[in-house]
Amino acid sequence: MHVIIVGAGPSGLVLALLLAKANIRTTLLDSASTIDDRPRAAHYAPSAIQVMARAGVLEDIRRDGFIPMNMMWRNVKGEPITGIPKVSQPWSPEAMTVLPLNMLGKVLLEHCEKEERIEIKWNCKVVSVGSDAGKAWAVAEVGREFEKREERYEGDYICGCDGANSQVRRTLFGNEFPGNTWDAQIIATNVYYPFEKFGYDDINFIIDNEDYYMAAKITNDGLWRVSYGEDTKHTLDQVVANQPAKYERMLPGHPKPGDYKLLNVGPYRIHQRCAPSFRVGRILLAADAAHLCNPFGGLGLTGGLVDVGGLAECLEGMEKGVADESILNKYDEIRRQMWHDVINPVSSSNFLRVSATDPETATVKDEFLKMVDEASRDQKVRDELDKAMYAICHDFKQYWKTPGNRVEAKL
Ligand SMILES: Cc1cc2nc3c(=O)[nH]c(=O)nc-3n(C[C@H](O)[C@H](O)[C@H](O)COP(=O)(O)OP(=O)(O)OC[C@H]3O[C@@H](n4cnc5c(N)ncnc54)[C@H](O)[C@@H]3O)c2cc1C
Repeated sequence: MHVIIVGAGPSGLVLALLLAKANIRTTLLDSASTIDDRPRAAHYAPSAIQVMARAGVLEDIRRDGFIPMNMMWRNVKGEPITGIPKVSQPWSPEAMTVLPLNMLGKVLLEHCEKEERIEIKWNCKVVSVGSDAGKAWAVAEVGREFEKREERYEGDYICGCDGANSQVRRTLFGNEFPGNTWDAQIIATNVYYPFEKFGYDDINFIIDNEDYYMAAKITNDGLWRVSYGEDTKHTLDQVVANQPAKYERMLPGHPKPGDYKLLNVGPYRIHQRCAPSFRVGRILLAADAAHLCNPFGGLGLTGGLVDVGGLAECLEGMEKGVADESILNKYDEIRRQMWHDVINPVSSSNFLRVSATDPETATVKDEFLKMVDEASRDQKVRDELDKAMYAICHDFKQYWKTPGNRVEAKL
């Protein structure tokens, strides 16, 4: 089997590594000249760590990253409301791990470059995809400006891992991407500032109707991610101009620009959206190409990596002759259901919890924070919380036929 993966972002690279382990050859096509460097994901939940372990990259991720300890909700004065000690489940081999996306991308790329079954083509912008009964193809614009030409790549399947503006999804469904866009933009900043000095934990969610934010340590050398909300009317220039006042007002110690070292300021519109289907013929969608959610709670790439883990199991089953193509319908059905039943409601509540809740009554009125509070007194409730970290997982190997009931490999 030969699979064309559109997009060499984290989901595409992990999918390629998983397929290589199943002896499946992949060609990755990416419009950029190298991996994306923007400040986005950093926290990967145990369900995603499971997939990275299968892809053979966990040791290197742990070498460069770290396992965070406590998660705390606070009011805007920085006072604790309630929290989850050792939220990462550090006793588990699948403990939540932190590594900024650009550093994760480097680790994944190094592993892919060592795999002879993986070929990566940069500067290769896919403009359309198609499939028939026997094959799938992608048409891409390649080459430098003024020398651009079109090339066609053929394989058995196309996997669209080309992110939020996916051209694969647009080819299949046009602008149809049902869901909603929040009336807020999130400003993701990376900053050196000693939050520990003010008693902050590794992950902090600050509940406030105006100055809500997340502050989390993202590297071993003390870089922090501060993501806060801004009015959607503000342009990038206004966002950059407002940032010092925003920091001074909301961060502990009320710092002035000389008190911290700011590395990045990245504005993002935030969405809850899911494609109508993750399979059309021989074309599949995964991760941000298939679904989006706001970043509070870190379910975006975590959900995407769980998708590609499942998709790899389906394709591996077909390659081994223990599953037929109908397993891809299961992939579509189950992964969409997980987004609708878990990722969308949980990530939406995470955002509303920080931005539209009264911090004074949060542990009484907010069902989740009530549970977090109870978990500090009742181990059974804590066990439930820990188990919920795996709620988006699904074992697609259960649909593989037993050895006595093998189906003929079709490809
Ligand atoms: C501020 C912020 C914080 C976040 N924090 C977290 C977090 O802590 N944990 C978490 O799990 N998630 C988090 N997320 C979400 C996470 O960053 C995304 O879910 C993740 O990056 C999606 O990965 P992807 O591989 O699907 O897409 P992308 O990372 O967007 O990669 C897509 C790739 O496809 C390529 N491409 C695009 N179009 C084409 C084309 N036409 N042809 C060829 N190639 C193409 C691009 O160049 C890119 O390399 C966060 C997001 C934001 C904005």
